[in-house]
Amino acid sequence: MKPANSVMSGYGTTVFEVMSRLAIEHGSINLGQGFPDGNGPPEVVAVAQACLADKPNQYPPMMGVPELRQAVARHDKRFHGLDVDWQSEVIVTSGATEALAACLFGLIEPGDEVVLFEPLYDSYLPIVRRAGGIPRLVRLSPPSWHLDEKALRAAFSDRTKLVLLNNPLNPAAKVFTRAELQLIADLVIKHDAVAVCDEVYEHIAFADAPPFIPLISLPGMRERCLRIGSAGKTFSLTGWKVGYVTATPALLRAVTKTHQFLVFTTPPNLQRAVATGLDLGDGYYRDLVGDMQAKRDRFGKGLAEIGFGVLPSQGTYFITADFRPLGFNGTDEDFCRHITVEAKVTAVPVSAFFTPEQPPRDFARFCFCKKDEVLDAALERLLKHFKG
Ligand code: PMP
Ligand code: GLN
Repeated sequence: MKPANSVMSGYGTTVFEVMSRLAIEHGSINLGQGFPDGNGPPEVVAVAQACLADKPNQYPPMMGVPELRQAVARHDKRFHGLDVDWQSEVIVTSGATEALAACLFGLIEPGDEVVLFEPLYDSYLPIVRRAGGIPRLVRLSPPSWHLDEKALRAAFSDRTKLVLLNNPLNPAAKVFTRAELQLIADLVIKHDAVAVCDEVYEHIAFADAPPFIPLISLPGMRERCLRIGSAGKTFSLTGWKVGYVTATPALLRAVTKTHQFLVFTTPPNLQRAVATGLDLGDGYYRDLVGDMQAKRDRFGKGLAEIGFGVLPSQGTYFITADFRPLGFNGTDEDFCRHITVEAKVTAVPVSAFFTPEQPPRDFARFCFCKKDEVLDAALERLLKHFKG
Protein backbone atom coordinates (compact mmCIF):
# COMPACT_ATOMS: atom_id res chain seq x y z
CA MET A 1 0.00 0.00 0.00
CA LYS A 2 1.18 3.53 -0.69
CA PRO A 3 2.13 5.63 2.37
CA ALA A 4 -0.22 8.06 4.14
CA ASN A 5 0.40 11.79 3.97
CA SER A 6 3.94 12.37 5.16
CA VAL A 7 3.28 15.60 7.06
CA MET A 8 0.53 14.19 9.25
CA SER A 9 1.99 10.74 9.70
CA GLY A 10 5.24 12.40 10.79
CA TYR A 11 3.57 13.59 13.99
CA GLY A 12 3.05 11.45 17.07
CA THR A 13 -0.04 11.52 19.28
CA THR A 14 -0.70 14.95 20.82
CA VAL A 15 0.84 15.49 24.25
CA PHE A 16 -2.58 16.23 25.78
CA GLU A 17 -3.93 12.83 24.84
CA VAL A 18 -0.71 11.05 25.84
CA MET A 19 -0.61 12.64 29.29
CA SER A 20 -4.34 12.22 29.93
CA ARG A 21 -4.08 8.52 29.08
CA LEU A 22 -1.11 8.18 31.41
CA ALA A 23 -3.04 9.99 34.15
CA ILE A 24 -5.94 7.55 33.80
CA GLU A 25 -3.58 4.57 33.78
CA HIS A 26 -1.96 5.68 37.04
CA GLY A 27 -5.02 7.15 38.73
CA SER A 28 -3.32 10.52 39.07
CA ILE A 29 -4.80 14.00 39.48
CA ASN A 30 -4.76 15.32 35.93
CA LEU A 31 -3.41 18.87 35.80
CA GLY A 32 -2.00 18.21 32.33
CA GLN A 33 -4.54 18.65 29.54
CA GLY A 34 -6.39 21.94 29.96
CA PHE A 35 -10.01 21.44 30.94
CA PRO A 36 -12.09 22.66 33.88
CA ASP A 37 -13.60 20.09 36.23
CA GLY A 38 -16.97 21.84 36.50
CA ASN A 39 -19.88 21.37 34.13
CA GLY A 40 -20.20 24.86 32.68
CA PRO A 41 -22.63 27.64 33.65
CA PRO A 42 -25.98 25.96 34.55
CA GLU A 43 -27.99 28.62 32.67
CA VAL A 44 -26.09 27.87 29.45
CA VAL A 45 -26.43 24.09 29.84
CA ALA A 46 -30.16 24.51 30.58
CA VAL A 47 -30.67 26.39 27.30
CA ALA A 48 -28.93 23.58 25.43
CA GLN A 49 -31.19 21.01 27.12
CA ALA A 50 -34.35 22.95 26.30
CA CYS A 51 -33.26 23.62 22.71
CA LEU A 52 -32.38 19.98 22.10
CA ALA A 53 -35.98 19.12 22.94
CA ASP A 54 -37.72 22.07 21.28
CA LYS A 55 -35.64 23.29 18.37
CA PRO A 56 -34.55 21.62 15.14
CA ASN A 57 -31.65 19.21 15.36
CA GLN A 58 -31.00 19.20 11.62
CA TYR A 59 -28.22 20.99 9.74
CA PRO A 60 -28.15 24.66 10.73
CA PRO A 61 -26.98 27.35 8.28
CA MET A 62 -23.39 26.79 7.24
CA MET A 63 -22.22 30.07 8.78
CA GLY A 64 -23.86 29.28 12.12
CA VAL A 65 -27.29 30.01 13.62
CA PRO A 66 -28.22 33.72 13.44
CA GLU A 67 -28.69 33.88 17.26
CA LEU A 68 -25.04 33.00 17.85
CA ARG A 69 -23.61 35.14 15.07
CA GLN A 70 -25.58 38.10 16.39
CA ALA A 71 -24.38 37.36 19.92
CA VAL A 72 -20.74 37.21 18.78
CA ALA A 73 -21.13 40.63 17.12
CA ARG A 74 -22.72 42.04 20.32
CA HIS A 75 -19.97 40.49 22.42
CA ASP A 76 -17.22 42.00 20.25
CA LYS A 77 -18.84 45.43 20.59
CA ARG A 78 -19.42 45.13 24.33
CA PHE A 79 -15.95 43.92 25.29
CA HIS A 80 -13.72 45.27 22.55
CA GLY A 81 -15.63 48.17 21.00
CA LEU A 82 -15.69 46.51 17.58
CA ASP A 83 -18.43 47.17 15.05
CA VAL A 84 -19.13 43.81 13.47
CA ASP A 85 -21.75 42.91 10.87
CA TRP A 86 -23.04 39.54 12.03
CA GLN A 87 -24.15 38.47 8.57
CA SER A 88 -20.93 39.01 6.66
CA GLU A 89 -18.28 39.10 9.40
CA VAL A 90 -18.97 36.19 11.77
CA ILE A 91 -18.75 32.45 11.24
CA VAL A 92 -19.35 29.70 13.80
CA THR A 93 -16.87 26.82 13.77
CA SER A 94 -16.46 23.49 15.50
CA GLY A 95 -14.16 24.86 18.17
CA ALA A 96 -11.16 27.11 17.78
CA THR A 97 -9.29 24.10 16.41
CA GLU A 98 -11.48 24.02 13.33
CA ALA A 99 -11.41 27.82 13.12
CA LEU A 100 -7.61 27.69 12.99
CA ALA A 101 -7.61 24.99 10.33
CA ALA A 102 -10.23 26.81 8.26
CA CYS A 103 -8.25 30.09 8.43
CA LEU A 104 -4.92 28.45 7.60
CA PHE A 105 -6.17 26.15 4.83
CA GLY A 106 -8.29 28.98 3.45
CA LEU A 107 -5.49 31.54 3.29
CA ILE A 108 -2.16 29.78 2.80
CA GLU A 109 -0.89 29.09 -0.68
CA PRO A 110 1.99 26.58 -0.92
CA GLY A 111 5.28 28.46 -0.47
CA ASP A 112 3.78 31.27 1.64
CA GLU A 113 5.73 32.11 4.77
CA VAL A 114 3.93 32.06 8.09
CA VAL A 115 5.31 33.78 11.19
CA LEU A 116 4.60 31.85 14.41
CA PHE A 117 5.66 32.27 18.01
CA GLU A 118 7.15 29.52 20.12
CA PRO A 119 5.84 28.16 22.42
CA LEU A 120 3.05 27.13 20.07
CA TYR A 121 -0.23 25.33 20.48
CA ASP A 122 0.13 21.82 19.11
CA SER A 123 -2.17 22.04 16.09
CA TYR A 124 -0.47 25.09 14.51
CA LEU A 125 2.58 23.62 12.82
CA PRO A 126 0.97 20.48 11.41
CA ILE A 127 -1.77 22.53 9.74
CA VAL A 128 0.57 25.25 8.46
CA ARG A 129 2.85 22.58 6.98
CA ARG A 130 -0.03 20.55 5.54
CA ALA A 131 -1.27 23.72 3.87
CA GLY A 132 2.16 24.12 2.24
CA GLY A 133 3.17 27.08 4.38
CA ILE A 134 6.77 27.69 5.41
CA PRO A 135 6.99 28.33 9.14
CA ARG A 136 9.18 31.22 10.34
CA LEU A 137 9.48 30.82 14.09
CA VAL A 138 10.09 33.48 16.69
CA ARG A 139 11.08 31.95 19.98
CA LEU A 140 10.01 33.30 23.36
CA SER A 141 11.97 31.58 26.13
CA PRO A 142 11.26 31.04 29.80
CA PRO A 143 11.52 32.45 32.38
CA SER A 144 10.88 35.93 30.88
CA TRP A 145 9.05 34.92 27.65
CA HIS A 146 10.46 38.15 26.22
CA LEU A 147 9.55 39.02 22.62
CA ASP A 148 12.78 40.03 20.90
CA GLU A 149 12.20 42.79 18.38
CA LYS A 150 15.18 41.87 16.24
CA ALA A 151 14.12 38.24 16.01
CA LEU A 152 10.58 39.28 15.15
CA ARG A 153 11.71 41.61 12.38
CA ALA A 154 14.00 38.92 11.00
CA ALA A 155 11.10 36.46 10.71
CA PHE A 156 9.26 38.67 8.20
CA SER A 157 10.03 38.86 4.48
CA ASP A 158 8.33 39.71 1.17
CA ARG A 159 6.88 36.22 1.22
CA THR A 160 5.16 36.57 4.61
CA LYS A 161 1.49 35.75 4.08
CA LEU A 162 0.32 35.59 7.63
CA VAL A 163 1.14 35.74 11.31
CA LEU A 164 -0.42 33.36 13.79
CA LEU A 165 -0.61 34.86 17.26
CA ASN A 166 -1.99 33.27 20.42
CA ASN A 167 -2.77 35.89 23.06
CA PRO A 168 -3.03 35.20 26.04
CA LEU A 169 -0.36 32.67 25.23
CA ASN A 170 -0.67 28.99 26.14
CA PRO A 171 1.45 27.62 27.92
CA ALA A 172 3.55 30.73 28.74
CA ALA A 173 0.54 32.43 30.36
CA LYS A 174 1.85 35.66 28.85
CA VAL A 175 -0.41 38.54 27.85
CA PHE A 176 1.17 40.63 25.11
CA THR A 177 1.57 44.34 25.89
CA ARG A 178 0.22 47.07 23.68
CA ALA A 179 3.79 47.90 22.61
CA GLU A 180 4.43 44.29 21.55
CA LEU A 181 1.13 44.15 19.68
CA GLN A 182 1.91 47.44 17.97
CA LEU A 183 5.22 46.05 16.78
CA ILE A 184 3.49 42.98 15.36
CA ALA A 185 0.81 45.15 13.74
CA ASP A 186 3.42 47.43 12.16
CA LEU A 187 5.19 44.44 10.61
CA VAL A 188 1.94 42.88 9.39
CA ILE A 189 1.03 46.14 7.67
CA LYS A 190 4.54 46.75 6.32
CA HIS A 191 4.61 43.30 4.71
CA ASP A 192 1.02 43.42 3.53
CA ALA A 193 0.19 40.28 5.55
CA VAL A 194 -2.75 39.18 7.69
CA ALA A 195 -2.94 37.97 11.29
CA VAL A 196 -4.80 34.94 12.57
CA CYS A 197 -5.46 35.78 16.22
CA ASP A 198 -6.10 32.83 18.52
CA GLU A 199 -7.71 34.72 21.40
CA VAL A 200 -9.51 31.82 23.06
CA TYR A 201 -8.35 32.97 26.53
CA GLU A 202 -9.57 36.54 25.98
CA HIS A 203 -11.64 36.43 29.19
CA ILE A 204 -8.87 34.92 31.31
CA ALA A 205 -6.37 37.79 31.54
CA PHE A 206 -5.58 38.70 35.14
CA ALA A 207 -6.03 42.06 36.82
CA ASP A 208 -2.38 42.30 37.90
CA ALA A 209 -1.03 41.83 34.35
CA PRO A 210 -1.16 43.84 31.11
CA PRO A 211 -4.77 44.15 29.93
CA PHE A 212 -5.78 41.87 27.08
CA ILE A 213 -6.02 43.83 23.82
CA PRO A 214 -7.30 42.12 20.66
CA LEU A 215 -4.87 42.73 17.80
CA ILE A 216 -7.84 43.54 15.54
CA SER A 217 -8.54 46.67 17.61
CA LEU A 218 -5.22 48.31 16.71
CA PRO A 219 -5.22 50.97 13.97
CA GLY A 220 -5.10 49.45 10.51
CA MET A 221 -5.71 45.90 11.79
CA ARG A 222 -9.48 45.64 11.37
CA GLU A 223 -8.96 44.65 7.71
CA ARG A 224 -6.05 42.34 8.45
CA CYS A 225 -7.09 40.21 11.44
CA LEU A 226 -9.14 37.07 11.81
CA ARG A 227 -10.11 36.90 15.48
CA ILE A 228 -10.86 33.47 16.95
CA GLY A 229 -12.82 32.80 20.15
CA SER A 230 -13.97 29.60 21.83
CA ALA A 231 -16.99 28.79 23.98
CA GLY A 232 -14.90 25.95 25.35
CA LYS A 233 -12.74 28.46 27.23
CA THR A 234 -15.21 31.27 27.86
CA PHE A 235 -17.88 28.95 29.30
CA SER A 236 -15.70 26.11 30.57
CA LEU A 237 -17.37 23.72 28.13
CA THR A 238 -14.37 22.30 26.29
CA GLY A 239 -16.22 19.26 24.97
CA TRP A 240 -18.79 21.33 23.11
CA LYS A 241 -16.33 22.48 20.45
CA VAL A 242 -18.08 25.69 19.54
CA GLY A 243 -15.81 28.46 18.23
CA TYR A 244 -16.23 31.63 16.21
CA VAL A 245 -14.24 33.82 13.86
CA THR A 246 -14.67 37.56 13.33
CA ALA A 247 -13.12 39.13 10.23
CA THR A 248 -13.93 41.41 7.30
CA PRO A 249 -16.08 39.84 4.57
CA ALA A 250 -13.07 39.51 2.26
CA LEU A 251 -11.05 37.51 4.79
CA LEU A 252 -14.01 35.58 6.13
CA ARG A 253 -14.87 34.35 2.64
CA ALA A 254 -11.66 32.30 2.57
CA VAL A 255 -12.54 30.77 5.93
CA THR A 256 -16.09 29.95 4.88
CA LYS A 257 -14.93 28.24 1.69
CA THR A 258 -12.83 25.91 3.83
CA HIS A 259 -15.32 25.44 6.65
CA GLN A 260 -17.93 24.17 4.20
CA PHE A 261 -15.69 21.23 3.30
CA LEU A 262 -14.15 20.58 6.71
CA VAL A 263 -17.24 20.25 8.91
CA PHE A 264 -19.92 22.28 7.10
CA THR A 265 -21.83 22.97 10.34
CA THR A 266 -21.62 22.81 14.13
CA PRO A 267 -24.35 21.34 16.44
CA PRO A 268 -27.19 23.91 16.29
CA ASN A 269 -28.49 23.66 19.83
CA LEU A 270 -25.07 24.03 21.37
CA GLN A 271 -24.76 27.18 19.28
CA ARG A 272 -28.06 28.51 20.63
CA ALA A 273 -26.91 27.88 24.19
CA VAL A 274 -23.57 29.61 23.60
CA ALA A 275 -25.48 32.63 22.25
CA THR A 276 -27.18 32.90 25.65
CA GLY A 277 -23.81 32.57 27.33
CA LEU A 278 -22.23 35.43 25.41
CA ASP A 279 -25.07 37.68 26.56
CA LEU A 280 -24.58 36.84 30.26
CA GLY A 281 -24.10 39.86 32.51
CA ASP A 282 -20.74 41.37 33.40
CA GLY A 283 -20.84 39.45 36.70
CA TYR A 284 -20.34 36.16 34.88
CA TYR A 285 -17.19 37.40 33.15
CA ARG A 286 -15.88 39.06 36.35
CA ASP A 287 -16.33 35.85 38.30
CA LEU A 288 -14.69 33.72 35.60
CA VAL A 289 -11.43 35.68 35.69
CA GLY A 290 -11.65 36.39 39.42
CA ASP A 291 -12.11 32.72 40.30
CA MET A 292 -9.25 31.72 38.01
CA GLN A 293 -6.98 34.33 39.54
CA ALA A 294 -7.74 33.03 43.05
CA LYS A 295 -6.92 29.49 41.88
CA ARG A 296 -3.73 30.69 40.23
CA ASP A 297 -2.64 32.32 43.51
CA ARG A 298 -3.61 29.32 45.62
CA PHE A 299 -1.84 26.81 43.39
CA GLY A 300 1.17 28.98 42.55
CA LYS A 301 1.82 29.63 46.25
CA GLY A 302 1.64 25.92 46.96
CA LEU A 303 4.09 25.08 44.18
CA ALA A 304 6.52 27.72 45.46
CA GLU A 305 6.28 26.30 49.00
CA ILE A 306 7.23 22.88 47.65
CA GLY A 307 10.30 24.45 46.07
CA PHE A 308 9.34 24.89 42.39
CA GLY A 309 10.55 28.02 40.60
CA VAL A 310 7.12 29.38 39.71
CA LEU A 311 6.81 31.69 36.69
CA PRO A 312 4.27 34.52 36.58
CA SER A 313 0.90 33.64 35.05
CA GLN A 314 -0.70 36.69 33.42
CA GLY A 315 -3.54 34.89 31.65
CA THR A 316 -4.93 31.48 30.55
CA TYR A 317 -5.54 28.82 33.20
CA PHE A 318 -1.99 27.50 33.14
CA ILE A 319 1.06 28.05 35.30
CA THR A 320 4.58 27.05 34.39
CA ALA A 321 7.11 25.92 36.96
CA ASP A 322 10.85 25.20 36.92
CA PHE A 323 11.46 21.85 38.59
CA ARG A 324 15.29 22.05 38.74
CA PRO A 325 15.27 23.60 42.25
CA LEU A 326 13.72 20.30 43.43
CA GLY A 327 16.88 18.50 42.36
CA PHE A 328 15.29 16.58 39.46
CA ASN A 329 17.86 16.08 36.71
CA GLY A 330 15.95 14.45 33.85
CA THR A 331 14.08 16.16 31.01
CA ASP A 332 10.67 17.77 31.38
CA GLU A 333 9.12 14.69 29.79
CA ASP A 334 10.85 12.52 32.38
CA PHE A 335 9.62 14.85 35.10
CA CYS A 336 5.97 14.79 34.00
CA ARG A 337 6.05 11.02 33.70
CA HIS A 338 7.80 10.77 37.07
CA ILE A 339 5.26 12.84 39.00
CA THR A 340 2.38 11.02 37.28
CA VAL A 341 3.66 7.61 38.29
CA GLU A 342 5.27 8.41 41.65
CA ALA A 343 3.33 11.39 43.05
CA LYS A 344 0.05 10.72 41.19
CA VAL A 345 -0.14 14.25 39.77
CA THR A 346 0.07 14.94 36.04
CA ALA A 347 1.46 18.01 34.23
CA VAL A 348 2.58 18.52 30.64
CA PRO A 349 6.18 19.11 29.52
CA VAL A 350 6.70 22.62 28.16
CA SER A 351 9.08 21.32 25.46
CA ALA A 352 6.03 19.83 23.71
CA PHE A 353 5.16 23.39 22.67
CA PHE A 354 8.52 23.90 20.92
CA THR A 355 10.21 22.62 17.80
CA PRO A 356 12.85 19.96 18.52
CA GLU A 357 15.90 22.24 18.21
CA GLN A 358 16.98 22.76 21.82
CA PRO A 359 13.64 23.42 23.47
CA PRO A 360 13.59 24.45 27.14
CA ARG A 361 13.70 21.26 29.18
CA ASP A 362 13.26 22.45 32.77
CA PHE A 363 9.61 23.41 32.91
CA ALA A 364 6.26 21.73 33.52
CA ARG A 365 2.85 23.28 32.81
CA PHE A 366 0.10 22.79 35.37
CA CYS A 367 -3.56 23.49 34.66
CA PHE A 368 -5.30 25.14 37.63
CA CYS A 369 -8.95 25.39 36.47
CA LYS A 370 -9.96 22.75 39.01
CA LYS A 371 -11.89 22.70 42.28
CA ASP A 372 -9.86 24.05 45.20
CA GLU A 373 -9.90 20.67 46.92
CA VAL A 374 -8.42 19.05 43.81
CA LEU A 375 -5.65 21.65 43.63
CA ASP A 376 -4.96 21.20 47.36
CA ALA A 377 -4.84 17.42 47.02
CA ALA A 378 -2.38 17.71 44.12
CA LEU A 379 -0.17 20.05 46.16
CA GLU A 380 -0.29 17.70 49.13
CA ARG A 381 0.79 14.78 46.95
CA LEU A 382 3.66 16.76 45.42
CA LEU A 383 4.74 18.00 48.84
CA LYS A 384 4.74 14.51 50.27
CA HIS A 385 6.67 13.19 47.30
CA PHE A 386 9.38 15.85 47.21
CA LYS A 387 9.57 16.82 50.88
CA GLY A 388 8.10 13.83 52.70
N1 PMP B 1 -5.89 27.44 20.84
C1 PMP B 1 -5.37 27.37 22.07
C2 PMP B 1 -4.23 28.24 22.43
C3 PMP B 1 -5.88 26.48 23.01
O1 PMP B 1 -5.33 26.37 24.20
C4 PMP B 1 -6.97 25.67 22.63
C5 PMP B 1 -7.54 24.76 23.66
N2 PMP B 1 -7.66 23.50 23.35
C6 PMP B 1 -7.49 25.77 21.33
C7 PMP B 1 -6.92 26.68 20.46
C8 PMP B 1 -8.60 24.91 20.82
O2 PMP B 1 -9.83 25.32 21.29
P1 PMP B 1 -11.16 24.47 21.00
O3 PMP B 1 -11.26 23.48 22.09
O4 PMP B 1 -12.25 25.49 21.00
O5 PMP B 1 -11.00 23.81 19.68
N1 GLN C 1 -5.98 23.53 25.01
C1 GLN C 1 -5.82 22.51 25.97
C2 GLN C 1 -4.41 22.55 26.51
O1 GLN C 1 -3.60 23.32 26.10
C3 GLN C 1 -6.14 21.11 25.52
C4 GLN C 1 -6.52 20.92 24.12
C5 GLN C 1 -6.49 19.49 23.66
O2 GLN C 1 -6.56 18.57 24.43
N2 GLN C 1 -6.36 19.32 22.39
O3 GLN C 1 -4.12 21.77 27.35
